[in-house]
Amino acid sequence: MKIQEAPIEPSLWYATAAPPPETYELEGRENTDICVIGGGYTGLSSALHLAERGANVALLEAKEIGNGGSGRNAGHCTPTFHFYEIPTIRRMLGEPFASRLIKRQTDAANLVFDIIRRYDIDCEGVQTGYIQTAHAPGMLPKMEKRCGYYQSVGKATRMLDRDEVARLTGSPRYYGGWFHPEGGHINPLGYSRGLARAAMSRGARVFTGSPVTAIKPDGMRWRVETAKGSIFADKVICGTGAYTTGFWPGLEQSFSRLGVAVMATQPIGDNLRKIIAPNNNTVVDSRGDAMIYKYNREGRLVTSAFVEGRRGGDIDYTKALMARKLQWLLPDLPEVDWQYYWFGALDMQPKTIPRLFQLAPGVVASLGYSGRGVPTGTMMGTVLTEWALGAPAQDLALPLEPLRSAPFYMNFAPRLFLAWYRLRDQQRARAGGADPPPF
Ligand SMILES: Cc1cc2nc3c(=O)[nH]c(=O)nc-3n(C[C@H](O)[C@H](O)[C@H](O)COP(=O)(O)OP(=O)(O)OC[C@H]3O[C@@H](n4cnc5c(N)ncnc54)[C@H](O)[C@@H]3O)c2cc1C
Repeated sequence: MKIQEAPIEPSLWYATAAPPPETYELEGRENTDICVIGGGYTGLSSALHLAERGANVALLEAKEIGNGGSGRNAGHCTPTFHFYEIPTIRRMLGEPFASRLIKRQTDAANLVFDIIRRYDIDCEGVQTGYIQTAHAPGMLPKMEKRCGYYQSVGKATRMLDRDEVARLTGSPRYYGGWFHPEGGHINPLGYSRGLARAAMSRGARVFTGSPVTAIKPDGMRWRVETAKGSIFADKVICGTGAYTTGFWPGLEQSFSRLGVAVMATQPIGDNLRKIIAPNNNTVVDSRGDAMIYKYNREGRLVTSAFVEGRRGGDIDYTKALMARKLQWLLPDLPEVDWQYYWFGALDMQPKTIPRLFQLAPGVVASLGYSGRGVPTGTMMGTVLTEWALGAPAQDLALPLEPLRSAPFYMNFAPRLFLAWYRLRDQQRARAGGADPPPF
């Protein structure tokens, strides 16, 4: 089975999220100003922000709300950049786009939690902060710099010493870390469904079970076709992420897919929860192949792992490995029982920041987030709203780029990098005198 075809039903979120709003398949012809394709954060946040601004908007989702990454991710909402430091983003993008994107991305968790509060979304949303921990002493100078970069854009981040990290994470394995108070976590499917409900409460029309098969010009407008109907629109926004199907030539080739498994333990008892992550933070370590955990509402520890090679095909092996890793990290943890285990796909591209592709005049796509889509997808909904409402390209937070295929090496580079990261993680730990985990 292709990774983007893995079912969402086995996920913890499917079992626990608040129910979706009532929606129907598109049948017949509809007219709208803006047609949005994709019922994930990108599409739903676009529909919500457009509807809030009074635009006439209709959204088409192939399956159900949150079917893609947005309903099955690990639920961490971290308002930082993935892989690249802020000065690198400045060099990569140049001004004025760099400052605009940095402002939007670093404020994006506040945007998420503001929407959750304003629309009273039932999605386990907690903004308790994000902790990145050093798995080797050599990582601390780098973290000090990173913490400083986020302070320089106005964030109240701070360094944590070894004792504080042990107290906040429940792990004696770390050498210190840094704290970002604006991070948090959510039930991702609950958040997706809540976004849909919010957009509909503002007048957006949301159709599910309606895969788009083609977007065709129709006079000065666009005709977005599904099996049983079509939507006529002035503008079209594509937010189909790693779950993109072939409705626009070349769009699926603009990224490569990387599989991720997410898993959740049995509920952890109250006494232990006072020791392990007592403040219910998101905890992620500095490994390239990072260990990451948080609780859900029932007190289950949720963690995730990139799947490739043996980790991809052999679920028993992966479960056993991840249990050993988590227990190595958290020695107080009792035997781990992975009661939920599911898969999802990431849309990876070399820049690892969002891309805004102009597919044709009046048609754009935003995808290729390479992870971190909870804040980024929500934030991109605001950028797409500005585009759809007529902001000139030079005023947007990101440059509008022509559609490009991902370089060929992206078909194997993320997997090779992961293998290399693992070796480097172990080497760094050993060089710093640390005892590395099983991997
Ligand atoms: C397992 C996993 C763990 C992750 N963990 C995190 C995390 O902890 N924190 C974080 O910030 N990010 C995380 N991410 C990344 C994040 O989930 C994604 O970046 C984000 O959800 C992308 O949102 P999106 O709206 O762009 O796309 P998606 O959520 O993938 O939505 C795209 C939607 O488009 C629909 N679609 C596709 N083709 C069509 C069509 N032809 N017609 C109509 N609809 C169509 C799909 O069905 C899908 O519902 C994770 C991702 C995965 C897979």
